[in-house]
Amino acid sequence: MNRILAGIIFSLFISTGYISFLVHERQQELQTLSRYTDSWSAAQLVSEYYRFESWLGLYTFVDTMDLDDVRLRLDIMLSQSDLMKGGDLGHYIDSNKEHRELALQLQSTLEYLDVHLEKMNRSDIKEYLKVMHELDSPLSRLSSGALDKDVNSINNANHNIQTLYYIYSATSVLLIILSAILGVLIFYQNRNILKAHLQVKSLAEELQKSKEKLQIQNTKLEYDVYHDSLTEMNNRHFFWENLTKTIEVAKKDNQSVVVMLFDLDRFKEVNDTYGHDAGDILLRQISHRLESMSLASDTLYRLGGDEFAFLSSGLTESQAVSRAQKICEFINQPYTIYNTIINITTCVGIVISDTERRSDFLYKFADLALYEAKNEGSGKIKVFRQRMLDKLQESRTLEHDMAMAIVNKEFVVYYQPIVDSFSREIYSYEALIRWIHPLKGILSPDSFIPVAEKTGMINEMGKSVLEMACREAATWAVPAKISVNVSPVQLSSKAFAGVVLSILKDTGLPNERLELEVTESSLFTESTTPMNTLSKLRSLGVKISIDDFGTGYSSLSRLSRIAFDKIKIDKSFVHTLSTQEDAINIIKLITGMAKSLNMKAIAEGVETQEQLESLQALGCDFAQGYLFGKPQPYVASEIRNGYQEQFNCERLS
Ligand code: C2E
Ligand code: CA
Ligand code: CA
Repeated sequence: MNRILAGIIFSLFISTGYISFLVHERQQELQTLSRYTDSWSAAQLVSEYYRFESWLGLYTFVDTMDLDDVRLRLDIMLSQSDLMKGGDLGHYIDSNKEHRELALQLQSTLEYLDVHLEKMNRSDIKEYLKVMHELDSPLSRLSSGALDKDVNSINNANHNIQTLYYIYSATSVLLIILSAILGVLIFYQNRNILKAHLQVKSLAEELQKSKEKLQIQNTKLEYDVYHDSLTEMNNRHFFWENLTKTIEVAKKDNQSVVVMLFDLDRFKEVNDTYGHDAGDILLRQISHRLESMSLASDTLYRLGGDEFAFLSSGLTESQAVSRAQKICEFINQPYTIYNTIINITTCVGIVISDTERRSDFLYKFADLALYEAKNEGSGKIKVFRQRMLDKLQESRTLEHDMAMAIVNKEFVVYYQPIVDSFSREIYSYEALIRWIHPLKGILSPDSFIPVAEKTGMINEMGKSVLEMACREAATWAVPAKISVNVSPVQLSSKAFAGVVLSILKDTGLPNERLELEVTESSLFTESTTPMNTLSKLRSLGVKISIDDFGTGYSSLSRLSRIAFDKIKIDKSFVHTLSTQEDAINIIKLITGMAKSLNMKAIAEGVETQEQLESLQALGCDFAQGYLFGKPQPYVASEIRNGYQEQFNCERLS
């Protein structure tokens, strides 16, 4: 389209130029027409000559005529004859030899008269007229020749003008047609431009809309990046960014940074008991409660799950603790979810630091404080102290040393007898692990078992204790039982039953001689693995005891679901037997319950004869404690060599 338009405009330009050229040409032709006056000039000259001849003739006849009149006519004739020397007539005459000669003749004739007229009489003039008459017919021919030429020139010019007129008309028509086409094209072009303009406009509008949509999406995306989708609270990402900012500001203002970490207590139970929907509702309600505290918007965060955080600066320790208490108070109020009242508490770990400016360290310190709070129990608030870090460091070293100890076989088994409360016969030996540390000496399990459980090393450690104990027991001449402690971590593994059975097979110890001591916490789990494992082993003859009974959460329904063989009453009850009435009642309750569930009761930590007598009176079947023997790296020779004797308490003490 644009090319066509450009072509037409170019053609118009050329046509207009050509028309200008035509006009110029026509003008030239018209000028040529006006210049063709040869015939007229020649006719003038000839008629003037004839008139002069008439005057001369008249002078020869009329005496009254004055010579001056003749002279006047001669002068007119002379001036007329000058026309032949220049101008159009001059050119015409010059172009022909015959004409040139005639002109010379005329010139000399008139010049002769000019010189001699006053000296000539009438007869001389009459005679001279004859000479002059000879020029008449050539002059007449000159005149008619000039006329012919002029007529031809005029005809030619007319013809040219006619032709120019046709070309002019045709070009004009072309010009009109081109202008019309140009008009139409410009109209279409305009329409297209208008259409394009509208399209561009609508595109621009769409673009604007997309831009706005994108902006909204961006804002939402940005919001989502920094907010938790469930509670709409600031999220972990936001927490880390703001922690860095808070540190920078605090550094500038020389203020303390405060980080608090909250972890709900037993939130998993809420999820497990009431369902995850209820758990979600609880988290949302907690977030509303926190919102209602009207704290600055960038201070509270949900880090994930049931973990929340509070971030601030410039608080003293007591201010921070009272702020934490306030938040706990808000969280600890009862919640109504699906018409059920749910109570929840939270533990808090706080770090307040004027010097530490590393965000990950501050977080770690608050986390350590939280860990400590959690260990102490529900609803506890702990402020970070250096000793917590030292403890962590120690446990790291311990982990490393323990890994080395397994390789170096530094773990050994000690044996402590469990006796019949009445006959005092050795019923069993409890295998108790000891760490023979190359530098620290003999370490008790309480100092390393928790770390072994945390790292998972307990699986290997427990397996080796089980193997050593079974191998040892298999050598005894007297078939006393061997009791081995099993950690909840070991029990949660599906492979555990297989491990026990293969050790029994390898060592050749009959299944019935092995007793596994499990704690209540092993069973206090949603997983069915521990229960299934114990049922399987028990069905194969292995005995099961519940250790440290009375300190955990065992429910009777759970206890009755699997028939255990023994209940071990925790030593804390035995130790307070003489001082606390409650202890007697609890032991009575446990022994009664054991009987009704067809189990035996064992009392641990029996140190005195009085304790033993009280336990006998309460119907306790077995007893274990320093009264009968401390844990030793070997067993009594009676057991090892085959003859058994009654324990002499005095001898042991
Ligand atoms: P536990 O199973 O309750 O073991 C009894 C603990 O009471 C033993 O401490 C024992 O030495 C101590 N004890 C025995 N008689 C008396 C007494 O008359 N008075 C006092 N005060 N204490 C007495 P130990 O050997 O330090 O073991 C501590 C705990 O470590 C054990 O408590 C048990 O839970 C755990 N443990 C020991 N060996 C192993 C093991 O091989 N595997 C696992 N998973 N845990 C073990
Ligand atoms: Ca035990
Ligand atoms: Ca115990």
